[in-house]
Amino acid sequence: MLRPGHLDGAKIAQLADELPATVPLAGDNLRLSVNAFFVTDGTRSVLIDTGASNVWHDPTMGLIHDALDEAGIDRAHVTDVAITHKHEDHVSGLIAPDGSEAFPNLERVWIGAGDTSVFTGRLEPIRDRVVPVSEKVAINDWTTAIPTPGHTPGHTIYHLRSGTGHLLAWGDTVHVPTLQFDRPNVSWELDGNQSQARAARVALLEQLTQPHHFVAGAHLDSPGIARVTPSDDGYALEYLAPPIG
Ligand SMILES: [Zn+2]
Repeated sequence: MLRPGHLDGAKIAQLADELPATVPLAGDNLRLSVNAFFVTDGTRSVLIDTGASNVWHDPTMGLIHDALDEAGIDRAHVTDVAITHKHEDHVSGLIAPDGSEAFPNLERVWIGAGDTSVFTGRLEPIRDRVVPVSEKVAINDWTTAIPTPGHTPGHTIYHLRSGTGHLLAWGDTVHVPTLQFDRPNVSWELDGNQSQARAARVALLEQLTQPHHFVAGAHLDSPGIARVTPSDDGYALEYLAPPIG
């Protein structure tokens, strides 16, 4: 029986022994996808998170600029970036690996007010376009930023609405999808405020069980878009597209 608790590296290894088929490991580390999402209605668009660029020195990371090219999206069309929180695997792609600004026509970078301190050093050139989010606020006609502190003080989710449904881009609400849907009380070691993060996760999972609701998760298996349903003990997720690699 796994109890609510603090999910650190040792615990993950232990859980992997108990549930070998469900916890993907790379060496001793948890294997995680790192996703970003570009959403457009043809006129307005928003890029949610930007990946790690070359900061983590990992050849499997920092591919957002190539991914945008592959999708036929011109980086010059990105005017609004919505950051879920300040960690390097979410903000670093604002700067390309060659040190230039990744999005030449960037006008606004939305980020929780509690996380704006990250815009120093390498990210200093972006600081003048930062829009701090301290309460629920509309970014455009169909995107609302909603503060959900816990993982970090400024953690923010983005609620996107269309004529047919709702998409919640929830950042780092879940890090280990194979465990934390079944057991939403299990927290991640890097959740800065464990109880706040746990409460936010439970509330969002419950919200996502409503009809026509979908989640876009930064660390769900890539490409990271899924439906959430209630299960016996917690929740189940059903990916809309099969996970890559
Ligand atoms: Zn993250």
